[in-house]
Amino acid sequence: MKIGFIGLGNMGAPMAANLVKAGHEVIGFDPVDVNIDGVSMARNALDATMNSDIVITMLPNGRILRSVVDEIIGSLKPGTGLVDCSTVDVENAQMVANKALVRELLPVDAPVSGGVTGATNGTLTFMAGGSDAAFEKARPLFEIMGQKVVHCGESGAGQVAKICNNMILGATMIATCETIALADKLGLERQKLFDVVSTSSGYSWSMNAYCPAPGIGPKSPSDNNYAPGFAAELMLKDLDLSQQAATMVKADTPMGKLATQIYREFIDSGNGLGKDFSAVLQQFESH
Ligand code: NAD
Repeated sequence: MKIGFIGLGNMGAPMAANLVKAGHEVIGFDPVDVNIDGVSMARNALDATMNSDIVITMLPNGRILRSVVDEIIGSLKPGTGLVDCSTVDVENAQMVANKALVRELLPVDAPVSGGVTGATNGTLTFMAGGSDAAFEKARPLFEIMGQKVVHCGESGAGQVAKICNNMILGATMIATCETIALADKLGLERQKLFDVVSTSSGYSWSMNAYCPAPGIGPKSPSDNNYAPGFAAELMLKDLDLSQQAATMVKADTPMGKLATQIYREFIDSGNGLGKDFSAVLQQFESH
């Protein structure tokens, strides 16, 4: 397929590289100079996408997504797939999809989890929203860039799944961290806490697979001085999106709200900048 790829940053660049390796023709655009083996770079988004079978976007936020889509949408032929893999707000995802449908394009919102490692190794998880036809058009590319893809429903459903998952993750990580700090103060060895919780009803991915305390459980960013992994800033971004969505539909999410506040303080204080989101343990250790 001929693929136009817009946004070749930390995630987009390795994803595009995997599409090339699988034999697809990829034309890319990013305002920043990037050089990816096998990807020819265009001068602007319009040139990169003009004759594409599928356009993929991997951009920082919904505002930028909308401006890119506005720039290119008039030149895409009916039936072109428009696959946004960025994490953006549900409202913008749906707005972009509606504009695309008017022009008989095949839009899919398909945010990912798995981070830069998953993007590099082609092991991302895709959560997709869109019609069956749009999803089926994009599926072969998801299968190259990822190892799991779930068709979650209509347009926006992928973004909804992503922020719901990450709202649980943010709240659970904080619960895990405050518990470790409590156990410390009560004199319980961290290894013993892990041995019990990881095999009891308090277990979670945060404790079992990604333990925020160094030297405990499988290797995680805590064992690497909290180098991300999944950056605390990105967790805050996703929590903010969850709260924006909750406000939109008047959902009550007290844990999500508090998790957002705690990650915001972590970032605003400077303590969380450039660190993995599990480093929030240090906020509780310092009390
Ligand atoms: P990034 O900042 O490294 O990449 C974004 C790229 O978009 C940059 O290269 C930037 O120059 C480019 N860009 C900005 N404006 C543009 C425009 N108008 N036209 C074309 N390109 C433009 O970010 P990333 O880490 O690659 O993340 C991309 C998306 O994936 C974000 O929405 C993020 O939330 C999501 N995500 C990231 C991770 C992760 O671990 N990094 C994990 C899951 C999801």
